[in-house]
Parts: sequence; structure tokens; C-alpha cells
Amino acid sequence: MLKPLIAGNWKMNGLKSSLTEAELLVEGLSQGNYSVDVLICPPATLIDRMVSVFDGNAISVGGQDCHANASGAHTGDVSAEMISDMGATFVIVGHSERRTDHGETNAVVRDKAEAALRAGITPIVCIGETLAQREAGETLSVLGDQIANSIPPGVAGDQYVVAYEPVWAIGTGLVPETSDINTAHNFLRSKLQEIGVENADKVRLLYGGSVKPSNAAEILGVAEVNGALVGGASLKAADFLGIIAGA
Ligand code: PEP
Repeated sequence: MLKPLIAGNWKMNGLKSSLTEAELLVEGLSQGNYSVDVLICPPATLIDRMVSVFDGNAISVGGQDCHANASGAHTGDVSAEMISDMGATFVIVGHSERRTDHGETNAVVRDKAEAALRAGITPIVCIGETLAQREAGETLSVLGDQIANSIPPGVAGDQYVVAYEPVWAIGTGLVPETSDINTAHNFLRSKLQEIGVENADKVRLLYGGSVKPSNAAEILGVAEVNGALVGGASLKAADFLGIIAGA
């Protein structure tokens, strides 16, 4: 049984004043008895301060993206080393918003995942089908292609995390049937084994897409779901704590 990871993705939301939610999260977690790993990925501008807020508490901080290179002439980008230097221990790579808004391919995502490992932080590699692909019955073939080509090759499964996020479920309030999540996650686990990933059974497979306190327990109860990547509902500590309570 893998320890669930409940990860929040604040996306491009949050100012210094939003750190009150991080403080409320610390307070809320101290009042419960949770056996999950908790992570917040704020905008890069808040990583440093959030690390300070979480200091001494078992809550991790992550980045939302990184450049594949360690440094150089890449105006506006942030490297995995920089994220690590601020105290982050995870980084999301290949989120569908990056794949869509910035044209990131599987190869780009894989390079970023390798950069994270080089910097000593854990990549969370995101994959997921679009609505058109789902309607065309291509979900599993898309996932198979994405996972085979986006994960860092030759790296043991306990070194990274995979997040299955159906693109049509992100930020829409739509969620696949539990049986569909089960099918996708079982498929991903077998695919990892098929392509020869060492410790394929140790890859934490997160589900992401409109996870809320009201549906968290059902989704997190699916056998091969080892946690959640949460967007909108991670912005408010009360909602995020409700999801953690469902794990
Ligand atoms: C996400 O941004 O990864 C996400 C899953 O968003 P939401 O929970 O808002 O659907």
C-alpha cells in the first residue's frame, strides 16, 4: 500500500496575503491524525515564503513547472535547481495547461522530469486525454503513449509521481465515473510494468480533475489511486483539508 499524496496546485493564483491559507492548513493538519503526504505547489513567487510557513511541519512545497536546463539565457523561466534552492521538494511537469498553452510535448515533459531528478526533487508527471480523444475511444492509447514518452527513462518508480488528469475534467466540475478512473489507473500500472520500469508498483498514481471534499473519498478509494492532484479546491485550506480527510 503506497502512502497517498494529496497535492495542491495553486496555478497562477496567490499573493503574499494568500499565505494565511497555508497557515490555516498547518493549523488544520495539526488537529487531525492523517496518514497522507501533503504538498502545495504555489506560484514560484511564493515558494520561498511557503517553505517558511510550513517549516517544522510535514507539509511539502513544490513548483508548478521548471526549465530543462539548470541555468542560462531563458528569460522568465525557472530551473529545477532554483526551485530546489528555495526549499521545494517536488515539481509538477507536463500539466495540461502547460502542454496546451506552451506547446509542451512528451519529449519536453520528459526533459523537465529529468531536470527535476538532476536537481534532487521529485517530478509529478501529468498526463491525460482530451474530450475529443475520449469521445473517439482513444483514452488508453493516448495514456499509453504519454506515459511511455513523458516519464524519465531508466529511473526507478519510487523516484517520481504520475498524475492522471483527464483534460476535460480539469476545472470543469466534471469527473469520470469511478469505474473509468479504475480502468485508467489499472492500465497505467500495467503499462509501467510492461515498459520495464523498476519498482513499477512504487509509482504513486494520482488522480486529478475536479476533486472536491464531496467526491474525494470515493475517488481515493479506487484501488490504484494513490492520491490526488487538486487545483481549485486547494486554494482554501478548509476545502483542501476536507479532501485530505477523505484519503
Ligand atoms: C489541476 O489543476 O491539476 C486540477 C486538477 O484542477 P481542478 O482540481 O481545479 O480540476
